[in-house]
Formats: sequence, C-alpha cells, structure tokens
Amino acid sequence: MGATTIPGTKSKRQWIYAKKPGGKLFNYRQWFGYTLLFFLFAAPFVKINGEPFLMFNIIDRKFVLFGSVFWPQDLHIFVFGMLIAMVCVVLFTVVYGRIWCGWACPQTIFMELVFRRIEYWIEGDWQQQRKLNERPNTLQKQLKKGLKHTIFFGISFLISNIFLAYIIGVDALWKIMTDPVSQHLGGLIAILLFTLVFYGVFAYVREIVCTTICPYGRLQGVLLDDQSITIAYDVNRGEPRGHRKKGAEEEQGDCVDCNLCVQVCPTGIDIRNGIQMECVNCTACIDACDAVMEKLDRPKRLIGFYSAMELGGSKKKGNTRAIAYTLVLSFLLIVFGWLIFSRTAIDGTLLRAKGSSYQKHPNGTISNLYSVELINKTNGDLPIQLVPESQRFAIKTINHIDTLKRGAAAQVSFFLISDQQAIQTYKTNVRINVEVNGKIVETLKTTFVAPPGGASWTPQ
Ligand code: SF4
Ligand code: SF4
Repeated sequence: MGATTIPGTKSKRQWIYAKKPGGKLFNYRQWFGYTLLFFLFAAPFVKINGEPFLMFNIIDRKFVLFGSVFWPQDLHIFVFGMLIAMVCVVLFTVVYGRIWCGWACPQTIFMELVFRRIEYWIEGDWQQQRKLNERPNTLQKQLKKGLKHTIFFGISFLISNIFLAYIIGVDALWKIMTDPVSQHLGGLIAILLFTLVFYGVFAYVREIVCTTICPYGRLQGVLLDDQSITIAYDVNRGEPRGHRKKGAEEEQGDCVDCNLCVQVCPTGIDIRNGIQMECVNCTACIDACDAVMEKLDRPKRLIGFYSAMELGGSKKKGNTRAIAYTLVLSFLLIVFGWLIFSRTAIDGTLLRAKGSSYQKHPNGTISNLYSVELINKTNGDLPIQLVPESQRFAIKTINHIDTLKRGAAAQVSFFLISDQQAIQTYKTNVRINVEVNGKIVETLKTTFVAPPGGASWTPQ
C-alpha cells in the first residue's frame, strides 16, 4: 500500500505515497496538462483591443471573455452560460464519468504534474519518500524538506498572483507589486492569503480535496449509471487473482496481484474493489497494469475505460446515448458561442412616454414622445446617433448625448415627428436605428400613433 499515518503525528490521516506514474496515457496526460497550464498562466497577459483575453472582475462587476467586455447588463448571458455549464457537467459526467477530474481539473494538474513531480525530484520515489519521513530529523532531511517547501511556497505565490490577475487584471496586479506597500495593503494581504491557501492545499490537504471536499466528486454516486464510462478493473478477466506459478494447473485470472495499480494511485485506493468515489480517473493504474500485462504477454486493459454494463457482459455499449448527449452538449455550446459573439455593442430599450399619445402641431405635423435607455457594452466610448429607418419621420431629441461612455447607460428622450398627410393608419410600425459612426449597431422597434392624414378620423 502507498499509504501510511503521518510520522510524528497522532492523526489518523493516511498519508499517500504514490509511486511515480509512467506510460502512454500518463504521457498524453502530461501533454494535455502542461498545455492547459501554459494557457492558464498566459491568458491574463494576452490582450485583445486593450482588454485581457479572460478576466472575472467580481469587484467591479466587469467580465471579459475572449477580449469582449461583459457588464452587469449582460447578466442573462452569464446566467445562460452557467446553466449550460451545469448541464454540460451533468451530461459529460453521465457519459464519460470523471474524466474532467483526472485530465483537466486544476487541482489534479497542479498536484500530479507540478507539486508531486517536484517531490519526486527532491525526495525520490514513493518508498524513498516514506523512508525519509520515517527517518530522524537529520540535517539532510531538513535540507530536503526545506527546499521542497520553499519551492512549494514559491509556486503557490505564483499561482496566487495568476489567480488574482484573473480577477483584477495584470495591470492592477502589477501596480500592487510595484507601488509602495502601504498603497495596496488589501491587495497584498489577498495575495498572501491565497498563497497560504494554495500552499496548504498542495503541501498538506492534497488528495483530500478530491476525495472529501470537492462537491463534484461527491455527485458521482448520483450521476453515474451502468452505461457511464469509468476506469474499472475487468473482474471476469482478472479473477481469481494471484501470483503465477510454473506448471500450476488451477485456472487463474490475469491479475498477478503485483499491487502496482494500488501503489501508483494518488488517492490510495484499490481499483480492483470496484468503482469508488475516490477514483479521480487519472489513468495511472491503467498504465501500471498495461506494463505488467505487456511483460506477461497478455492483452492490455485489464484495467481500462469500461462501463459497468460492458463488464457485465452486455454487448450493447451505450454508444447511441453517448452520441446523443454529445450532440446536445455541442448544440448548447454553439448556442452559448452565438450568444457571446452576436452580442450588440449597444443595448437599448425604447418606450413611449407614459400618459402621452400624440401631439398635433399647427404646421400639419404630428409628434410622439419616446424615451430610450441605451447601454454601451464595449470597452470604449461610442459616438451615437438615433436615426429613424423611414425617411417619413424626423427625430428631435430633448436631452441630446453625443458620446456614450464605456460601460455606461444613458436615458434619451426624443420626439418622432411626421407630416400628418403621410400617416395612413392610426398605429404605424417604426424602427429606430442606433448608429455609431454611421454604422447601425442596434435597431429598436416601436409604434407611432396618429390619426391618418386628411381623413376625418377620430380615435376609438
Ligand atoms: S497492476 Fe494489474 S496485475 Fe497488478 S495487481 Fe493491479 S490489476 Fe493485478
Ligand atoms: S484508481 Fe486508478 S484512475 Fe482511479 S485514482 Fe487511482 S490510479 Fe487514478
């Protein structure tokens, strides 16, 4: 077993010493994980039109996705985005199990591909780590532990800064780092607190995050069914397990009980006991077992990606459901992408002024009074103009505004005026264009009420 009680403590915590993983799947996981890490560290520094690639400024309620700024007025997109994310998580888990945990979750990526790698480098593989912990406090042990924890703290400080860069942006973060300490005491305390949290998580809490704290992990029991693909041990093929003896006559399964799948497990479980909530689908046990099977000249994937139905002998693999769910997922993601990219630069709500219908003028014209609320959703100030689509109408603004500031909202009241002779029905549909530098960015619809021109018409 790769687990033991922490030396020198009375705690019942079983400290996991995971054997260094290796193999084809681990290599894929490394490539994928390091690519995600690169993206995570690079994204706050990438700017599009002066805005970061991604930013979630909950303090100023400003969010930036792919360089597009979203303000509180775009709440509906975020609500829809959150709903899509929740549906995606559920559908994805029902079909593909906990792949997210093993391959894309920041906790696993940092723990397995960063912190544990440093530990292997300084303290050696799992058995050496255990021996080191059980050894008396020699100078060599203190140096190794000191070096490890200093690096752990340094990386946690780096993660903390990146985390903050996603919230306040790199420019604000740079100011905190370079201005006198007294000017950004709050920011510096936040960085230090986040650093301590990350350090605590990766140096001490570790796999407990996945096995006990993370709510997503605890949802598995509800989300998974017998068609879900999870990492599982093929009991029919593996049992009865045992060491292979030359010339032995009794029937034996493929599992030689070498325990390697348990030794590499970062959550300290034995996958041969069945699907368990603690399994983060990291695939380390698949790699370990595949290497054993290769040596024994037996087919690989005694441990592999299987559904309970498949292992139960059913030929039906549930592919139709996987395809259907994947299609639903793709559709939802496309809708979300469309919502983000089809968002107009200016949002407007046009209303007729309360309690008014029309005003007749001695020069034969008729006017209606309106009020429009305009919101600039871009990251720049916009020169705006209201233009009726039909040339039959003219606009006379009461409180004219030339420029709408970035992220700002403004209310404009205006009269729409028409020659009464041009009016044919009591209610005429009208479209008002909001133009920026002569380009239509939003079209608002309303009605213009007036008695038809020339007719002896009276309102009903
Ligand atoms: S690694 Fe494979 S052969 Fe070894 S104990 Fe695990 S399942 Fe059995
Ligand atoms: S059982 Fe296998 S896949 Fe699951 S966490 Fe352990 S090593 Fe990873």
